[in-house]
Amino acid sequence: MNGYHTHIFEHHTTPGGVAATWKCKGYTIDGGIHFIMGHRPGTALHELYHELGTAQANRFVDMTTYGRFIDETSGRSVEVTQDLNRLADDLKSFSPTDARVIDQLIAGARAMKGLDMSEAGMSKPPELVG
Ligand SMILES: Cc1cc2nc3c(=O)[nH]c(=O)nc-3n(C[C@H](O)[C@H](O)[C@H](O)COP(=O)(O)OP(=O)(O)OC[C@H]3O[C@@H](n4cnc5c(N)ncnc54)[C@H](O)[C@@H]3O)c2cc1C
Repeated sequence: MNGYHTHIFEHHTTPGGVAATWKCKGYTIDGGIHFIMGHRPGTALHELYHELGTAQANRFVDMTTYGRFIDETSGRSVEVTQDLNRLADDLKSFSPTDARVIDQLIAGARAMKGLDMSEAGMSKPPELVG
């Protein structure tokens, strides 16, 4: 992008690093990136994606559910969702005795809500973050 002449050396047999996909015994193992943060216009990370061309090449979809955990014995499941009231209720229905700790967890998540991760140190090298 900046006109430098570069050589890239890769010691693995395939490129991709830790975000690679590979075949094994008939399965495709997708060990790669499943979500990215900072895709909203106006954030520093979005500007970076734009500069690299990926913001224009991709359509970003907001995730509402991060993961779903299933207890195979009982079949009950809990979704880690951005609806923090629902998450708190679901966790408490699993384990009412943990209500106090669950409230602390949810309070922590609320405190993080709306935080621009790129302003929280991800747009700078660690040694430049206060
Ligand atoms: C299972 C998993 C899920 C992830 N999910 C997400 C996600 O959803 N969202 C997200 O944002 N991030 C995610 N990450 C993190 C993200 O994948 C990595 O932070 C990112 O891919 C790192 O890229 P990199 O190029 O810096 O390093 P790497 O991918 O580690 O690449 C380093 C490359 O350098 C090569 N190399 C190492 N030493 C040498 C050498 N001496 N000579 C030549 N080549 C060398 C390696 O073989 C490798 O190809 C995930 C990571 C993992 C493992």
